[in-house]
Amino acid sequence: SLKLAERVARLKPSASIAAKKKVTELLASGRSVVDFTIGEPDLDTPPHIIDAAIAAMRKGDTHYTATAGTPELREAICAKLERENGVRYRPDDIVVGCGAKQLIFEAFAATLSQGDEVIVPAPHWVSYPDIVGVNEGVPIVVACGENVGFKLTPAALEKAITPKTRWLILNSPNNPSGAVYSREEMRDLTDVLKRHPNVWLMTDEIYEHLVYGGRASASPVQIAPELAARTMIVNGVSKAYAMTGWRVGYAAGPKDLVDAVTKLLGQSTTCASSVSQAAALAALTGDQSHIEQTRRLYATRRVRMIELLEGTPGLRLSKPDGAFYLYPSVAGLIGRKTTSGYVLKDDLDVALYLLDVANVAVMDGTSYGLSPYLRLSFATSMSAIELGCANIRKACEALF
Ligand code: PLP
Repeated sequence: SLKLAERVARLKPSASIAAKKKVTELLASGRSVVDFTIGEPDLDTPPHIIDAAIAAMRKGDTHYTATAGTPELREAICAKLERENGVRYRPDDIVVGCGAKQLIFEAFAATLSQGDEVIVPAPHWVSYPDIVGVNEGVPIVVACGENVGFKLTPAALEKAITPKTRWLILNSPNNPSGAVYSREEMRDLTDVLKRHPNVWLMTDEIYEHLVYGGRASASPVQIAPELAARTMIVNGVSKAYAMTGWRVGYAAGPKDLVDAVTKLLGQSTTCASSVSQAAALAALTGDQSHIEQTRRLYATRRVRMIELLEGTPGLRLSKPDGAFYLYPSVAGLIGRKTTSGYVLKDDLDVALYLLDVANVAVMDGTSYGLSPYLRLSFATSMSAIELGCANIRKACEALF
C-alpha cells in the first residue's frame, strides 16, 4: 500500500475545500441547501478582464513566462502597491504565483526548518497552520477572542515570541472574523516586532478592499517601513476582482526571499498561467470601479444578514469590519438538545445540525482555530441570505 510521507500523513485536507465539495454533492443529489460556506466572490470576473485574456491568447501569450511573472505584471503590481498601499517596491522584489496560497506555501517552504515557529493569531484562515506544518514548522496558534475584537494584542504577541519564532502572520481584514486592524493597532504590533529582529512578518492583505463603516485597511509596511527588510506582503486578484479561478497572487518582499520563492516555483509550477497573468495585468491597470461597486454590494448584504440574525436565540453576533463573513458565537447553543434528542457539544455539531434541520451549510469555528463559532459567508445572493437566515433562526428557536 501507499506509504505517505510523514508530513503529508499529518496534513489535514482544507476544510473549506471539503465543505465546497460536500455542498456540491448535496445539490447534485437534489437537496436544496443554502450555501453560507462560500469563500469567494459570487460575482463573475468583469468583462474587460476577460477580454484582455482573450486578446492575450490571440496575440500569442500562450508560452511560459518568466518564473517570477511577466515584467509588465510585476511593474503593474509595484504601481498598485505604491498607489493603494503607499509602499515602494521594484519589480525585482515581486513574485507572482498561482494564487496567494502558493506564495504563502513557498515562502514557508523556503524559510522554515524543523521546529521553527510561526505565530498564527486565531481565528485564522484555515490553511495557515497546515501550510506551516507541512513545511516542518510549528504553528503557534494564539487565541484572539471577541473581547479583543478577534485581534492580536501587543501583549499576546510579545508572549508568543520565543527564540524559535521565525514568522508572524497577520491577516487584515481577517478571514473568518472580519476584524480589521486600525493604524494604531498595527503600529503597536510593529513596535513589538521592532524589538525582535529575528521575527519576520507575513501580511496577508487579500481582503484589503472589502472594508465597511468607513474603515480602511492599513499595510504594516506603510506604518513601519523599517520592517520592510523582513516582511512579505501577500496579495492577489482573487477577491478584489472576482478572479479566484484564474489563480494569480503575488508577494512583495526583500529580494533574497523573493528569489528563494522564485527558485521553488521554478522547480514546481514554472510560472503562473500566461493568460491569467495577462488578465491580472488588465485587472490592476484597468477601470477600478468594479471594486467599489462590489464593496457596496457586500456592505448591503452584511447589514441585511446582521438584521436578519439579530436576536436569534443562542447566537451572539459581532459586526465584521471587513471581508465577507459573519463569525457569530454559538456558545449559547452548546448543551442544547435537538428534537431528536442529541445534545450539541461543539460548533461542529451546530454546523451539522443547521445542515440537517435548516438546510443551511456553514463553516464551523473549529476549522478556524477559535470555538465555538460559525462562519457565515455573505458572498451570496440576497435571496439566499433571506432564506438561509430565516431557516437558521427557526432551527435555533427549536432548541429552546
Ligand atoms: N488568504 C486568505 C485570508 C484567504 O481567505 C484566501 C482565500 O480564501 C487566500 C489567502 C488565498 O487566495 P488565492 O486565491 O490568491 O490563493
